Parts: sequence; C-alpha cells; structure tokens
Amino acid sequence: MAANYDVIIIGSGIIGCCTAFELSKLGYRTLNIDKLGEAGMGSTAGSCAIIRLHYSTPQGVTLAREGYYYWLDWPKYLEIRDPSGMAFYRNTGALVIKTETNKHLRYVKQSLQELGVGFLELGPDELTPYLPNVDTSSYFPQKWVDDPDFGKPSGRQIPGAVWVPESGYISDPKLSTHNAQVAAENKGAKFLFNTRVIDILKKNGRTAGVKLENGTEIEAPVVVNVAGPHSFQINEMAGIADKMNIKTRPMKQEVAHVPAPEGLNWERDGYMLSDGDIGCYSRPEVGNHFLIGSEDPECDPRLWVDDPDDYDRNFTDQYRCMVMREAMRVKGLPIPNTYQGVVDLYDVSDDWIPIYDKSDLPGFYMAVGTSGNQYKNAPVAGAMMAGLIRACEGGLDHDRNPFQFNLKYLDRQLDAGFFSRNREINENSSFSVIG
Ligand SMILES: Cc1cc2nc3c(=O)[nH]c(=O)nc-3n(C[C@H](O)[C@H](O)[C@H](O)COP(=O)(O)OP(=O)(O)OC[C@H]3O[C@@H](n4cnc5c(N)ncnc54)[C@H](O)[C@@H]3O)c2cc1C
Repeated sequence: MAANYDVIIIGSGIIGCCTAFELSKLGYRTLNIDKLGEAGMGSTAGSCAIIRLHYSTPQGVTLAREGYYYWLDWPKYLEIRDPSGMAFYRNTGALVIKTETNKHLRYVKQSLQELGVGFLELGPDELTPYLPNVDTSSYFPQKWVDDPDFGKPSGRQIPGAVWVPESGYISDPKLSTHNAQVAAENKGAKFLFNTRVIDILKKNGRTAGVKLENGTEIEAPVVVNVAGPHSFQINEMAGIADKMNIKTRPMKQEVAHVPAPEGLNWERDGYMLSDGDIGCYSRPEVGNHFLIGSEDPECDPRLWVDDPDDYDRNFTDQYRCMVMREAMRVKGLPIPNTYQGVVDLYDVSDDWIPIYDKSDLPGFYMAVGTSGNQYKNAPVAGAMMAGLIRACEGGLDHDRNPFQFNLKYLDRQLDAGFFSRNREINENSSFSVIG
C-alpha cells in the first residue's frame, strides 16, 4: 500500500462506498479501509433497507425524496453492472399511522406537499383494503411488554393514516454495497479489507493519514469517518470527540421475522407499515414473512452498547415486545417460540439526525450518527460528502458559511449546515428511528 491517496475513507458500508464512488468521480484517489472482510458487512448488512419519505423535519423528507431517485436509477447512477448481480428497489407503498407523537403527520404532509409527492389521507374506516386483518383500536400510549396494561386498547380508535404510494425497500443491502464498491473501483477507487484503523495521523495541525493495527501508516491529507457504530472510536482517535455538540453512541436493535397470518400473501401484497400507535414498523420479507422493527417508544429500555465489538448478540424482550405489539394490529399474526431475525447496532446521534460534516481537525470529515435511518440516503449522502469535502478543501469555511448542496433530481439546494456536528439538539426530531 505504498500508493498515494487523496482521501482515506474509514469504513466500507453503504455510505463509505457511495462516498468513495462520488469522490472518485470528482477525480480524488480514494482508499476505503474496513476491518471486516467485504463491503457492507457492518451495520449495513443488518439494515431493513426501507425506503420511505416520512421524516420529522422538512430537511429529512427532502433528503429522503432526493435519495429515492438514486435508487430508482441505481444501475444508471452507478454507470456499471456488478457481475455479482444488482440490488433493486421494490415499490410497496407505506401506510403511516397518525399519532400524537407524530403530530398526526401534519408536518410530514406539509413537506410532502411542498415537494409535490402524492399521498392519500385515510380515515380508520378506510384501512380495510390496505390491511384485511386490521384492528383499528388505539393502544397509545405504548407500554412495555411487562406492563400489566400491555395489549389493552385505550378505548379509542386510531385517528387515521397517510398512504404514501412511493415507498418500498431494497432487495439486498449488502449486495447494494458491493454494487457501489464495484462502481467506485470502476472510477479508480481502492479498497483494503480485514484491516483495522487504530489511529489518525496528524501533522502541522491537520490530518495526515491513518495507522493500521499491523503498525503500517498510510498517508493522506483527508480522512473521512464512515465507521458506523464505531464512529465514536474514530472521532476519539482524531481527538475531536469532545469538540462536537452532538455525539454518537452505538445502540443494539433487534428485528423480527415472523410468518404472515394464514391466508395473507404478505410477500406479494404487503407494504411498509409505520405504526407509531403501537411503536413498530414492518415490511414484507421473503418466505411470506413480516419483518418487524421497533419505532423506539419512550417506555422501552434503550439498549446502549459500550463496546461495539463485544456485546450480547442474543434476542431480548425487545423481540417479544415488538412481535406482540404487531399482533395487536395484524390479527392472526403468529407469535413463534423460536426467534428469527437480526440483531445489530445503530450509530445513534443525540437527536437521531445524522452528522454529515467537517470537524475541528482540518482534513478530517465525518458521515456518522445515522441512527438507524440513513441506508436510504447513502447515495445522496455520499454525493453531499464529496461536495462538502471539495468545497472545504477549496477554502470554504463551512461552519460560518454552510455548504449548499445541489439536489440534482429535485433541482433545489439543501443547506448542509442542518447536519452540523455543532447544531443544537433538534427538538423537532422524533428521537427515534423515524429521524
Ligand atoms: C437493524 C437495522 C435496521 C435498519 N433499517 C434501516 C432501514 O430500513 N432504512 C434505512 O434507511 N436505514 C436503516 N438502518 C440504518 C442503516 O443501515 C445505516 O444507517 C447504514 O447502513 C450505515 O452505513 P455506514 O456505511 O455508515 O455504516 P456501516 O455499514 O456500519 O459501515 C461501517 C464500517 O466501518 C468499519 N469500521 C468500523 N471501525 C473501523 C476501524 N477502526 N477500522 C476499519 N474499519 C472500521 C466496519 O467494519 C463497517 O463495515 C438500519 C440499521 C440497522 C442496524
């Protein structure tokens, strides 16, 4: 590895690979370093890969809408066909239940309207065509599984829902990451696997490269932290962790795979169900399964993890709680005795909104704190990071005069300062995976 690089990217998850692709297109010589053996083996592999538009802030909705087009255009965007196959977007639509917590989707609807995204408003009595087995009782506020009132309806009905036809999921998140790696290599990017970064080199007050576990040093004037749930460790190595207003921290998350109720072809007819009333989201999964994840209601314990390389990978009561909650809404959903699904880590920021930013160490950048909700935005985040790095290395003082990122599909600009490490905690956030 004696070659010269302009940029070292720590991490080869979906965001690290998309950042490499975008920087390579701009002419930068990039090297991605990952401690695992292949691209996308970190938290990206555990992703539910849901592509949806309902975020709590207008900027969140806008970024997701722009990102949606990258997935629609995937092979054209990457300019290559991966011999291993191409991941693809499957459109299913998303049914989003109105709750007090999401303010009856008032702001989401405003953002969708502003972007010209079509949606339907549905009353509780209009949900049957969408979910034949639906129970429209409200269970809000949610309760933890051990609460004596768990599973008891409140006596009210859910206030209704918004149906967003343009939503779905990506067939295979790990394959999509390999697709992005191959596309980046096609533009000259290099990748180094099975190699752990243990330090960030500094010279003359700026970033100078990285030190590897085997003692090797690789020089580059720019280093990007895209280390997912390990992001806080890399920021500590760079000496900038305590110079940021927003911090990141790994959190364990469980995803359940459960057979669909008898008679329901959910693999064919299913869609994304974001049900804040019970505190769960779900989508169809192969084998006619429901894939169920948590929307992190306040009553649930938060499974913070100190060491992302050493944590309990077993299912806990979170799994049981999620499946039982989903079964309140979807009548006939079986509750299996054996658990099947995914255990992985989110990289959670203080307000569950990502940090796409420079740092106080010149030449050191980060795309971190993705809080369980940035797989869908990886290609557009890669493009924004590449633009940000080019602008800052060209002299832009992004902290004072934030980089304005051009959203090519939406033909508008997004103030990248929204994702600043030094923002105040965004009180409009859901403080959950919804972002
Ligand atoms: C269970 C689960 C479900 C999710 N569902 C969705 C969803 O439906 N929709 C959505 O939009 N998002 C979802 N997400 C979030 C999404 O998957 C992440 O935001 C995204 O995959 C993050 O990509 P990344 O490239 O930043 O990180 P990662 O994929 O975690 O990649 C980071 C890489 O850095 C490497 N690394 C770390 N430390 C070092 C080091 N010291 N040296 C070398 N390499 C290092 C790791 O090995 C890893 O490969 C989900 C996440 C999880 C865990």
